[in-house]
Amino acid sequence: MSASITTKSTSTQDASSLSLIAAHSHISGLGLDDNLQPKESYQGMVGQLQARKAMGVILKMIQAGKIAGRAVLLAGPPSTGKTALAMGLSQNLGAEVPFTAITGSEIFSLELSKTESLTQAFRKSIGVRIKEETEMIEGEVVEIQIDRSITGGHKQGKLTIKTTDMETIYELGNKMIEGLTKEKVLAGDVISIDKASGKITKLGKSFTRARDYDAMGPETKFVQCPEGELQKRKEVVHTVSLHEIDVINSRQQGFLALFSGDTGEIRQEVRDQINTKVAEWKEEGKAEIVPGVLFIDEVHMLDIECFSFINRALEDEFSPIVIMATNRGITRTRGANYKSPHGLPMDLLDRSIIVHTTSYSGDEIRTILSIRANEEEVDLTGDALALLTKIGQETSLRYASNLIAVSQQIAAKKRNTSVELQDIKRAYMLFLDSDRSVQYLEENSSQYIDDSGNVTFGQQV
Ligand code: ATP
Repeated sequence: MSASITTKSTSTQDASSLSLIAAHSHISGLGLDDNLQPKESYQGMVGQLQARKAMGVILKMIQAGKIAGRAVLLAGPPSTGKTALAMGLSQNLGAEVPFTAITGSEIFSLELSKTESLTQAFRKSIGVRIKEETEMIEGEVVEIQIDRSITGGHKQGKLTIKTTDMETIYELGNKMIEGLTKEKVLAGDVISIDKASGKITKLGKSFTRARDYDAMGPETKFVQCPEGELQKRKEVVHTVSLHEIDVINSRQQGFLALFSGDTGEIRQEVRDQINTKVAEWKEEGKAEIVPGVLFIDEVHMLDIECFSFINRALEDEFSPIVIMATNRGITRTRGANYKSPHGLPMDLLDRSIIVHTTSYSGDEIRTILSIRANEEEVDLTGDALALLTKIGQETSLRYASNLIAVSQQIAAKKRNTSVELQDIKRAYMLFLDSDRSVQYLEENSSQYIDDSGNVTFGQQV
């Protein structure tokens, strides 16, 4: 690890969390008023008033920094909005507070051990707000000269940055070239420079890779963007996650791993050094810890080792708030031979605040389905929505919601712009819900492979 700890980073979001969000794209918050009271239908959120009220209290506590190291369990039947509530909370918290969403089964990856996956998820959920009290100049880069002939290597030489409006020319020596290649600054970029340390922070615009510099001639000169601005700044604040700091400072991975998400295992030694450094910054008032949220959906998929890890991690100096969701009742905890409520061991359950979600009324289902149809830009006739609502009541909200896109395809085939009753009926016949699928299996069990691996063709079971 380098002597100084680098914190420059970029935001990353992997594909799994994107798909988790897509089903909830209509949710833009918990739908609470200024007094944190839930409105019947607001910000895409409908009903589930008690649970939303409880989440409002949690939101307030997170904002006040009072709930780090605690666990919340969202428990309720399938499709009752547990994930939606977590997404709403994340929207209300805003971009400054880290929010990481994973599902229990993601922990069992082939590349990372369970504890490494969990550690990374925990550290992604802790923000470090770094304040830099410094004299900064900020301006648009209008000219860069890289004179590699001085040393023959692109890591050394002279960088000249000019801002035209105040005729300011900022010239820095070798260490800036080091900064230049790391920060990937090009003419046209808006940057700020810490006058004391020479550190460049890129504030916007173009991006290029280090090897692009290698392709340039020995004396490269760019001149563009004649407009420039120069400002003096007293305080620069940026928030990065502990995980991002880990990755950037881990020799094996390097910061590019932040883009690919392929960070591999990070050595404990690196994390220890970073913890010490961050604690120092905190002590000196240079940094603030922003405990974020780690949301673990389908938490019953975790096993007893993972639960014991979470129990311990919640006691750590840097701990986020952990929100878990499950639709299981009394069930066996994976890896243990006892049953417990929601499949969670009693010690973890004991330190969790439990929020229950309940089934929806017909009216609520209709409103949610109509919001979803709107979100997917599907026009449903009144009859179609009524039937879809009935299907939602008798099967599940998620199944009814899935039929929206399918019936639109059916309608589109007939060149209809809106989805009619017949289209919903057809979609319902084509795609089974879980109850009808079970019924089908029971009626045709002889054609399937059973637990022992045998096909029992024609046999009565
Ligand atoms: P499971 O236990 O099966 O994981 P869940 O309780 O997490 O289910 P969600 O995935 O949140 O259920 O809900 C299913 C769908 O219904 C999602 O598209 C979700 O956004 C939507 N939904 C659920 N509850 C509400 C609500 N109260 N308001 C608006 N949309 C909702």
